[in-house]
Amino acid sequence: MSDKRDYYEVLGVSKDSDEKELKKAFRSLARKYHPDKNDAPDADEKFKEIQEAYAVLSDSEKRRNYDRFGHNSPGGSPFGPGGFQGFNINLDDILGGDFFSSFFGGGRRRSAQSQGNDILVRHEISLKSVLNGGKDEIELDLPVTCQDCEGTGAKDGVTSQCTDCDGAGQVRVRQQIGPFVQDSIRACQQCGGSGRKFTSKCKSCSGDGLRSESQVLRFDIPIGAQDGTRLRMRGKGQPAPYGKGISGDLFIELIIEEHPWFERNGMDLIMSLPLGYSDLALGATIKIPHIDDKDLTIKVPAGTNSGDTITIHSRGVPSSRGIGRGDVVVLCKLHMPKKFDKSVKKSLEEIREQLSGASDIIDRILDDAEERRN
Ligand SMILES: [Zn+2]
Ligand SMILES: [Zn+2]
Repeated sequence: MSDKRDYYEVLGVSKDSDEKELKKAFRSLARKYHPDKNDAPDADEKFKEIQEAYAVLSDSEKRRNYDRFGHNSPGGSPFGPGGFQGFNINLDDILGGDFFSSFFGGGRRRSAQSQGNDILVRHEISLKSVLNGGKDEIELDLPVTCQDCEGTGAKDGVTSQCTDCDGAGQVRVRQQIGPFVQDSIRACQQCGGSGRKFTSKCKSCSGDGLRSESQVLRFDIPIGAQDGTRLRMRGKGQPAPYGKGISGDLFIELIIEEHPWFERNGMDLIMSLPLGYSDLALGATIKIPHIDDKDLTIKVPAGTNSGDTITIHSRGVPSSRGIGRGDVVVLCKLHMPKKFDKSVKKSLEEIREQLSGASDIIDRILDDAEERRN
């Protein structure tokens, strides 16, 4: 992991570059190193590196994380336990609509087209399951190839060659742009790029070639998963168009349920603990149930101030790399009841002088200011 190049270096941009500069740098590098265009043996690797750098830096949250932790983010790879698996955006969009067709004569575009779309689903899990890992499942209606027409969309699967494109699925379009004549390849509109046509639609799928099927997907919750961690299920996405090619992937994005009192900061869990004046002054031992099923014992030392924190080591979220665990950080606060009983009020009146300390108010203000500035 540590021999990875700095993402900013990969894209050749400065640390404070904005979205526009990033996009520009990415575009020009992607054009240069796209494996379809560059025959150098390392073009593939380079292209992947560029994509990964752009995927991180163009996402403000991932970028912030990267700026803070570099490649060794405490939550593991921003792309989940498997690391960067590829790009999930449409390169055509970012590189301009005709990028592939006008540069590569379309020959390879066809193979790019025969992959089904990826599907993204969000799934909520508890914070507890992030601590312990474990199995989970979701039931989903997923598109599958229609068996009755084998994905062609034609009645009984009977198709004939498209006459507009002679079965190629693509047509050559000549365009005059200013003084230039540009030939480009476009998907055939008549057959939608399938190269086949048919007169009657398959009844089972109304000609889509797809049907929806309820499926139960089982998966393991990775220990230490972050909010937004994506799990990839290869081939569980949309089937390739017309029943030919590879299915897309399904991504399960894990959304971690809000805990009633904990906030998560990387591997640490943060909570606030409202305590009475006496508890802060005299100290106290507080026991509360914890998400690891063992009670959390918080030892509040005598003389604790409102705003002081107590760290309980190794009771936070485990690292996704399997080594160590974060801490629980308890912020002590003074619990101020809205109302006091008469008797309590009376007692408080009696000890008011002692509680506020002997020194006069200006001395107290000065002492506090000095402490704060140290
Ligand atoms: Zn069908
Ligand atoms: Zn056609």
